[in-house]
Amino acid sequence: MNANLFDILHNAIPDFGALAIETVGGGRLLYGDLVERSGRMANALVALGVAPGDRVAAQVEKSPEVIVLYLATVRAGAVFLPLNTAYTSAEMDYFVADAQPAVLVCDPVRVDGLSDAAGRAGTRIVTLDAAGQGSLTDLAAGAPADFATVPREAEDLAALLYTSGTTGRSKGAMLTHGNLVSNAAALREAWHYGASDVLIHALPIFHTHGLFVASNVTLFSGASMILLPRFDPDCILALMDRATVLMGVPTFYTRLLGDDRLDRNRAARMRLFISGSAPLLADTHRAWQALTGHAILERYGMTETNMNASNPYHGDRIAGTVGLPLPGVRIAVTDPDSGRELPRGEIGMIEVRGPNVFKGYWRMPDKTAAELRANGFFITGDLGRFDDRGYLHIVGRAKDLVITGGYNVYPKEIEDAIDALPGVAESAVIGLPHPDLGEAVTAVVVPDAPDAASESAVLAALDGRLARFKQPRRVLPVDELPRNTMGKVQKNLLRERFADLYLGKN
Ligand code: ATP
Ligand code: MG
Repeated sequence: MNANLFDILHNAIPDFGALAIETVGGGRLLYGDLVERSGRMANALVALGVAPGDRVAAQVEKSPEVIVLYLATVRAGAVFLPLNTAYTSAEMDYFVADAQPAVLVCDPVRVDGLSDAAGRAGTRIVTLDAAGQGSLTDLAAGAPADFATVPREAEDLAALLYTSGTTGRSKGAMLTHGNLVSNAAALREAWHYGASDVLIHALPIFHTHGLFVASNVTLFSGASMILLPRFDPDCILALMDRATVLMGVPTFYTRLLGDDRLDRNRAARMRLFISGSAPLLADTHRAWQALTGHAILERYGMTETNMNASNPYHGDRIAGTVGLPLPGVRIAVTDPDSGRELPRGEIGMIEVRGPNVFKGYWRMPDKTAAELRANGFFITGDLGRFDDRGYLHIVGRAKDLVITGGYNVYPKEIEDAIDALPGVAESAVIGLPHPDLGEAVTAVVVPDAPDAASESAVLAALDGRLARFKQPRRVLPVDELPRNTMGKVQKNLLRERFADLYLGKN
């Protein structure tokens, strides 16, 4: 049976004359325009030699064209591969060599840095905007709008999406038509999304959150989205009088909270504020609710699965939890050694099964076999626990767990305690090799101001608040924490930087 996501989307569009995408510059695309332009673009891709199953990579600034290109790729039966615009040519070298796309679409300014890498993999490079020869927009403009969408099975690939690279080198997650369609449907149901919704879309569009979560749920609901090139508080605050939903990462909310133009009145028309991609501090959740009257809906997901869980639309949205599994998704918390499911309340490995779970890692059969069980559960690498109400709490990544003198220490608990201290802007707790303890709990702290949070002050404040084995051995001040382009703290870099701290080498 044909399960091409474009055809399913097409059949679900309630009104082809309705607005699908707006830009802050005044651009407007109706659903009918999306169909027409994706048809032209699909014809242009085929003219470039793109065949079903080929990868079409795109490293382009956020614009409606990216969504047109995504839909066109899917219509041609090919596999969409969006790439972070921050990637350097050396990083692009890796992705292009790994994914071997038939076509790489990029902004004209990037061509110089790319030709070498792409040329070696036999990839055809085309620019997206109207400037320059071989521009895809030019090709598409002259191509016919009619395109017979290539039928696909639910199991066929629609996208190859690389993970954020927080814990190491990014891996290509193979996402199928079935994955993306089912997740859009689950989110539509869970978030009560409908045609009258207007999304403020300020997330990057090369990541699962901005491309698949935000765009798919909007399009599959016949709703509309306003594309912002980046996070822009002025713009977001101004749009709150006509939009209904904001999807963001926690830093959106902490930054907006610092803006004195935000109040209950300004947020009154909005229906829903959603946060994900990183833990939302309970303090942020509470402060937002006190100021705006809205409880932020936190959700949990990843490149490999899209979304797994979300706080409920109706009912309590509890600060510090990611809520309940989405419709159709099953989440188990298991013993990392035996793989056996643990009773409620116990901390273990979060595993996910459902139509949202990816098909495996691109060209990494061993890794796929290790993380995707035969029974369909994906071992996420995140630790968590269910509470009495069945809400899931994320405790942190298994790779970040510190085992010190035989005790398990969950960094988030220590970070929460340190972040609450005066003079601390933020912290990251890591385990470092230690001759006696195996690993020693170590806090890396960004002070509000130089000397605002001395080692002795932090240690003294934690004494009595945390059990002895949880207290950091050392507190190391830094100017900032290393983050990847999604804003996630890269603890592996901190572990490398301070690897010798307790080994008598410094
Ligand atoms: P890589 O797999 O390459 O190391 P990554 O895991 O950061 O990078 P993503 O797929 O973008 O790549 O991120 C998914 C991860 O983000 C999850 O596994 C989880 O650790 C974290 N995450 C997502 N949402 C939340 C949330 N609400 N609370 C806490 N952590 C979250
Ligand atoms: Mg990951």
